Amino acid sequence: VESSREGVEAALRARGLRLTAQRRAIVAEVLAARGHISPTSVYERVRAQLPGVNPSTIYRTLEALEETGVLTHTHISSGAEYHRTAEGDHVHLECRRCGGEEVLSADEARPIEAVIRRARGFEADLTHSAIWGLCAQCRSLGEGASGSD
Ligand SMILES: [Zn+2]
Ligand SMILES: [Zn+2]
Ligand SMILES: [Zn+2]
Repeated sequence: VESSREGVEAALRARGLRLTAQRRAIVAEVLAARGHISPTSVYERVRAQLPGVNPSTIYRTLEALEETGVLTHTHISSGAEYHRTAEGDHVHLECRRCGGEEVLSADEARPIEAVIRRARGFEADLTHSAIWGLCAQCRSLGEGASGSD
């Protein structure tokens, strides 16, 4: 996957997207970002430089960057977020009580995927959406516990 600015811009042009100043600014934000990339934060940062930018331009450009393999998306309760493809190989855990987020590495998630595969022949992609539950700290407070353990 191409991750230089020139390479990413060339890949977008190859998909028929014109490289407007707005799209170039979006590409620059995405390449500078580390960790989670939310469409809203990209919009806010690009809008600070180019006040006329439309949110739909942000969404369409992020989708095109996913189609070129630069980004992958994941679903958390606040909506879809993106990662640079190389940084997306983990599972999100979200606490329903405090809203805290943790991650499980791909290695840690592998035994869970193996259980699902054995039981149903189903190849689960646990990185695609967050696992919802109760974090250790909230559990230790004893609030909101479901009582099932
Ligand atoms: Zn993540
Ligand atoms: Zn999805
Ligand atoms: Zn919590």
